[in-house]
Amino acid sequence: MGSPAADTDLGFHIVTLGCSKNRVDSDGMDHLLRQRGMVAVERPEDARVVIVNTCGFLGAARAESVDAIEQVLHGRRDEQIVIAAGCMPALGDYRHDIPVGVDRILSTREWYKIGDVVDGLQGRAPTPEVAGCDGMLTTFSRTNAGPSAYVKIADGCDHNCAFCTIPSIKGRQVSKRPLHVIQEIVDLVAGGTREIVLVAQDTIRYGADLGMKHGLPQLLEMIVEQVPDLPWLRMLYIYPSPLTLRMVDVMARHGALLPYLDMPVQHADKRVLRSMNRPSDVEMTRRLVDHARTMLTDPVMRTTFIVGFPGETDSEFRRLVDFVEEMEFDHVGVFTYSVESGTAAANLPDRIAPDVAEERRNVLMETQQAISLRKNRALVGQRVQVLIEAIGEAEDELGNVEPVSVGRGRRHAPEVDGLVFVPGAIPVGTLVELDIDEAGPYDLWAMQPGMSRPVSVPLEPIGGREGRRQHAPRGRSRGANRPERRGQGRSVPMARHVGT
Ligand code: SF4
Repeated sequence: MGSPAADTDLGFHIVTLGCSKNRVDSDGMDHLLRQRGMVAVERPEDARVVIVNTCGFLGAARAESVDAIEQVLHGRRDEQIVIAAGCMPALGDYRHDIPVGVDRILSTREWYKIGDVVDGLQGRAPTPEVAGCDGMLTTFSRTNAGPSAYVKIADGCDHNCAFCTIPSIKGRQVSKRPLHVIQEIVDLVAGGTREIVLVAQDTIRYGADLGMKHGLPQLLEMIVEQVPDLPWLRMLYIYPSPLTLRMVDVMARHGALLPYLDMPVQHADKRVLRSMNRPSDVEMTRRLVDHARTMLTDPVMRTTFIVGFPGETDSEFRRLVDFVEEMEFDHVGVFTYSVESGTAAANLPDRIAPDVAEERRNVLMETQQAISLRKNRALVGQRVQVLIEAIGEAEDELGNVEPVSVGRGRRHAPEVDGLVFVPGAIPVGTLVELDIDEAGPYDLWAMQPGMSRPVSVPLEPIGGREGRRQHAPRGRSRGANRPERRGQGRSVPMARHVGT
């Protein structure tokens, strides 16, 4: 966010909840409002217009969204305009849960109308549409996004997973044209962004609605060719599909394409997968993972699972645990099933008791933590490339405060995976080679080559690793609370479940 607006009539503030796709929409609204001469302000109380970009995916996310709107309404000044945007208003069943008092509701499919809506609420005539305005997929330029930026290449979903509300929120998939995607990336790289993370509900299906047969592999080739200065390109949310094989082949050919496969599998038991209306050919999943492990150098695999789906028996859950032990993914997120009104699964019998689902999640997370720790420990002594995203401080047991830089390696996607901490202040946005010297199940600690760890940043501070985590750097650009949330003695999901 920028500095406070001189004219409070022109100040706006956006509160963003939910997933990376919502974050991109918020960036789009930010861009459209700035184009109209408005100025982003740090604090909602300083803004004339406050937008809460809600998440409607799960009950807990909706509750968080309602809380955020209520907080804004509670502290509202006279003349302040409050807008509820995002996924929650798109869900007919929950639109009415949006607190009374907001001036306008704008669904996720209408975010690009924010400029006209604000103009109208302020009694101004609407401004003609901006160039590149293409509905939900409006292209916008972000030249100050920071070291890493999400680029949404499609929105909506053509699948019908039994547990998921996304198709009813977003509708069918629509893809952004390749030229618009490339233009956004060119602008971002020109502004200093070093990592682009392509997102969609089902990224592998990119371009199907544009008539592209192998849309994502083609798009990747175009990006690599036309943006040669981009060092890191990552994709998230790859639905298990035979097209993944072709995508992996493209990844193997280009150094800028990080060897990171994020393929949400959701379960490993055929019957449960069928009941979820997901691909139930577990052998195909094995083949896709094997292919990636054969073709890519230092491949990294991430997946997510849902436990406690209606009817999941102990032996079906056990099959999932065995699968996790067998596959040895690098990163796993585990979510307990949540009943969502309007979905097919909401009508299924044999619901699993919440305490049983929670216990299964803990078992699966603990199984994975042992695997992740083993894999991370194997990195100790290796030199890895790290993108520095923030500089914070660490405090030792004597109260000495030292600067610590925080970044991510090629194996870490933003917000959901681990971090790399390194003593010293390294400029944000730098890609550096670091030597890993300590590993936990999620995060890594490193040193700059040729340097030794300062006495005041010990390997084992009083209180152990977790104590050190609680003094972990402040001021990270994203997900700043994650290291503190972890390691509280119980396993926690590593990310909000966002589909696919
Ligand atoms: S879980 Fe993913 S693939 Fe399935 S319907 Fe939801 S968004 Fe689509």
